[in-house]
Amino acid sequence: MDSPSTPATADFSSTPPKRTKIVLLGDQSVGKTSLIHQIHATIGIDFLSKTMYLEDRTVRLQLWDTAGQERFRSLIPSYIRDSSVAIVVYDITNRQSFLSTSKWIDDVRSERGNDVIIVLVGNKADLSDKRQVTVEEATSKSTQMNIMFMETSAKAGHNVKSLFKKIALSLPGMEKEGQADAQNTKIDVTTQQAAAVPEASQCNC
Ligand code: GDP
Repeated sequence: MDSPSTPATADFSSTPPKRTKIVLLGDQSVGKTSLIHQIHATIGIDFLSKTMYLEDRTVRLQLWDTAGQERFRSLIPSYIRDSSVAIVVYDITNRQSFLSTSKWIDDVRSERGNDVIIVLVGNKADLSDKRQVTVEEATSKSTQMNIMFMETSAKAGHNVKSLFKKIALSLPGMEKEGQADAQNTKIDVTTQQAAAVPEASQCNC
């Protein structure tokens, strides 16, 4: 595992790794923590970081956890502020959590304007018999809001790797900045979730 104070990199190019922070947002219980765990299971990241090898580039996925719940809501803008990517999660079996995504997206836009990649993620796709939000409706919302959309199942491990691949491929400037940068991109993932302060939030990575 990487040391929190001196994050290790798998490739030792002379170009410093470019850091890309991803924040996970969404109502309580939509599956943010489970998605993070599934990233671990699917991509094989350790708790702090993992290099992800894509066809034409290598990205560094870096993960940390923060405490959530309403009482921490005042902290959310600071999580969003330096993020390049926001994953806004809802539960396809919970219509209210889908409606809440508008609020989360507004929060991201008010902090980051258009300078951010937003992905709307409908999680719990394995529970299709209890579905309260159609793919068509979510697709339409994502088109309207000019963001990406994908359904996942953290439980079944469905589309989790694809989600991060899609994000990595859509990072701006990857082609323009050349091979060295492309091989040294760091992605930090922060989740705003309901939990006591977990150990990883104590790291300063
Ligand atoms: P968070 O509050 O957004 O971090 O949500 P959690 O990750 O704690 O998940 C809330 C509940 O939903 C837990 O009981 C999870 O096991 C369950 N859950 C999360 N993702 C999925 C999924 O893709 N499918 C199903 N069936 N359950 C899920």
